[in-house]
This record gives sequence, C-alpha cells and structure tokens, in this order.
Amino acid sequence: ETIINQIAAGEVIERPASVVKELVENAIDAGATRIEIVTAGGGKNLIRITDNGSGIASDELALAVSRHCTSKLTNDVHDIRALGFRGEALPSIGSVSRLSLKSRTADADSGFEIGVHGGRVEGPRPTPMNGGTIAEVRDLFFATPARLKFMKTDRAEASAIGDVVKRVAIAFPHIRFSIAGSDRTPLELSATGVGSAGMLERISQVLGKEFTENAIAIDAERDGVRLTGFAGIPAFNRANSLHQFAYVNGRPVRDKQIWGAIRGAYADVISRDRHPVVVLFLNLDPALVDVNVHPAKADVRFRDPGLVRGLIVGAIREALGRSGI
Ligand code: ADP
Ligand code: MG
Repeated sequence: ETIINQIAAGEVIERPASVVKELVENAIDAGATRIEIVTAGGGKNLIRITDNGSGIASDELALAVSRHCTSKLTNDVHDIRALGFRGEALPSIGSVSRLSLKSRTADADSGFEIGVHGGRVEGPRPTPMNGGTIAEVRDLFFATPARLKFMKTDRAEASAIGDVVKRVAIAFPHIRFSIAGSDRTPLELSATGVGSAGMLERISQVLGKEFTENAIAIDAERDGVRLTGFAGIPAFNRANSLHQFAYVNGRPVRDKQIWGAIRGAYADVISRDRHPVVVLFLNLDPALVDVNVHPAKADVRFRDPGLVRGLIVGAIREALGRSGI
C-alpha cells in the first residue's frame, strides 16, 4: 500500500508546489474563504495550510488519508464541480513526507489530528483548534531520496509555490489567500467582491495595476463556448509563459493547445521568444471537455479543439484590432 502510494506520489507530487496545489484545492473544495500558507525551505522542510472550511469529522480522518477515498464523487463523470475527485493526494503526500492533518467540523467540541509518516498512520487524537483544517507537510520526499535530488533551490521552489497560488487565486477572488515564510517575501491577496469587478481586482492584485489598466477586455462566444478575460497589450510581454492564465469552467489549466492559440493570436505583434500576458476564462458544456486528463498537468481535451482555437485567436485579434494594435 505504501509503495503504491509512493508510485502515485511520483505522478501527482513532483515538487513542493504540487503539494501546495493539492492542499489548496482541498481547502477550496471544503468551502474555505481564508487560506493561509506557510512554507520553509522552499516547501521542502515545511508546508502548512490552514483553512476555515467545513473540516473533516474525526471518524473520517483515517479515510481521508487512505487511497481512493474521496467524499467528492458524483455519479455523473462530467459533473465534476470539485477540484479534486480522485482521493489520491493525501495518501500520496503521506507516503513521501511526515503529514499531519488536524481538522474540526462546526459541530465538534474539539479538533482531531491524524499523522501519516512515510505511509504509517497514527491517530486520530483530540487537539485544540478552531473550525477548519490544518494540513502540515514536513520533510517532503524524505522517504524517497531520489526525488529530493531533483529539487531546485529554496528560492526557486518558493517562487513556484507562489505561482501555483496566484494561478488558482485568480479563479476564486472571494477567497483570501496569504503566503508567508522565512524563504520568501509574503504575499497577501485580500478577498475581493464577486462578479467581474471582483475578478478584475483579483487579477490586478496578482498581475499589477499596470496590467489591468492597459489590458483589453475579451468577451466572445461561438457555438456555445464563451470566452471572457483580458488580453495584455504587446508591450506588456514576458520571457516565459508563467503569466498566461487559462481557466476552463472555473478551474485552472495549463494546456498546450491554449498556449498555441495565444501565440497564434499575437504572432504578428510579439516576437516568438516573448510571451504575452493573458487571462482567459473558457466556459462550455462540461460534456464537451475533459479536464485534468493527467493529475498533475491539468491539461484538457476539447471535443472540438479547432472551435476553441478559432475562438481564442479570433477574440484576441479582434480585441487587439479594437485598440489599434
Ligand atoms: P480528493 O480531493 O480527490 O477527494 P484528497 O486525497 O485530496 O482527495 O482528499 C481526501 C478527502 O479528504 C477529500 O475528499 C475530503 O473529504 C477530505 N479533505 C481533504 N482536505 C480537506 C480540507 N482541507 N477540508 C475538508 N476536507 C478535506
Ligand atoms: Mg484533493
């Protein structure tokens, strides 16, 4: 079982930022409105994520850290509103680190803590805490030293964690996110309002006012696929594609087809070695897309990739044209 979890961990958990992504998604799925992240040593020594979500009942803590136990499966595979649905993240993380999960539901008179150390489960035992969940991951990959060798510097890992949090934060502007730790400059994203104004404010928190004040709004639709967001002006370009944000039905994706469409749209105005800054939200019938084909990569399969590409290229070019670019 531990070995199976470690193999799964190899798929899901590539680096500290993957742990943060999974734990933050769990907090969001639990309805949290405040998510606090603390790291040390680029997340290799410590990742602690505190949320004010629904919590986990004491008799479900052991299930939460066991394989393929998810509380989020529905009968319809297309109806995946939750970010997680495999029940792999916690057992995987627990198999390659020292994981502690503390949680308290609204109706419990105390919190409970369960520990998983290299796959061995201890607890649950009572612990004082407020409502919500505290997931603490220490000594990531201590049980798989070969993995540890592939880690980058603390600074690089800390910065990758920041990127993961920013990417997910754009999709959830009503949630307050904070990241702190000895390995970084702190980041604080206060909760913004809902709707497009709130979204714009969150994008501004993440990408800076200079981006939002100059970016061109996008709103287009083709055959039931809606595309909204912001296209950065060509002068606002970057050396890498880390500043391209794409969301399909509200979940962050990193997808080659979408990146290719963005590149195509800017082909005449940005040189090939530079990357425009873009925030795109695609919304379509969930039956027309498979999100999360691979657990870690978050790429997508559209039923009609040509339609989506045409929509993105057309809408961005139209927006640039509207601004005389
Ligand atoms: P998944 O997210 O795919 O269901 P995980 O291994 O990430 O699988 O989590 C297992 C289960 O533990 C979840 O289905 C959920 O019930 C519970 N859980 C994990 N993290 C939290 C959290 N922060 N708040 C409430 N419940 C949680
Ligand atoms: Mg999960």
